[in-house]
Amino acid sequence: MFIVLQSLIHKRKMKLFSRACCALYLFAAFSLCACGEKDMSMKMNNPRNIRGVISYKRSFGDLNDVQLKTAKKIGIRPINSRKDADDMIGRLVEIKPCDRYDMDSLTHSIPYLIPTASELLDTIGQNFLDSLENKGLNPNKVIVTSVTRTKDDVKRLRRTNGNASMNSCHFYGTTFDVSWKRFTKVEDPDGRPMQDVSADTLKLVLAEVLRDLRKSDKCYVKYELKQGCFHITAR
Ligand SMILES: [Zn+2]
Repeated sequence: MFIVLQSLIHKRKMKLFSRACCALYLFAAFSLCACGEKDMSMKMNNPRNIRGVISYKRSFGDLNDVQLKTAKKIGIRPINSRKDADDMIGRLVEIKPCDRYDMDSLTHSIPYLIPTASELLDTIGQNFLDSLENKGLNPNKVIVTSVTRTKDDVKRLRRTNGNASMNSCHFYGTTFDVSWKRFTKVEDPDGRPMQDVSADTLKLVLAEVLRDLRKSDKCYVKYELKQGCFHITAR
């Protein structure tokens, strides 16, 4: 009889104890939230005001001769090799993947631009990130696919592509290509999952950014359908 009574009391104590634990746990969870504990739910897009352009071809139709004229005017003289670029400190700046843009590993060009073009690339990357935020989209970076070509690059290019031209703006340090097909998703530093933004949507936002810079005479832009990029010359 005594043992049964003791066990009943024990059970009751345990029940009370577990209730207290539960309450304590809830309280702790609540106060963590209230204190600004990071929300780890998936960050969804909330798209608004995405307009793009009516025609890529018509909006970005600055042909080679127009771009080349400016490239020759404000750019460097074509160089033979990467070593020549290293010797041109001041005239050329080296560009690297950063917070504002990403870069492919370059196979037929070198990561050097004249300062004006490097600043333009910074502006494009930053404006793109700002636009995405304003339009309720998760952050993505543009990807640079081609930069400055040397004469050595073109010799090598010609083996695979007979059209590789000595008449290219890419010789002058003024011109770079930015993909409209691929973008680099920016991950949350605390590991919060982020909903993807489709490449089609990102392309529309990038088009708006480039249209505005082109309108304010910062650059020439040609839409390259086959290469999947915008071909951009600073001005
Ligand atoms: Zn190009």
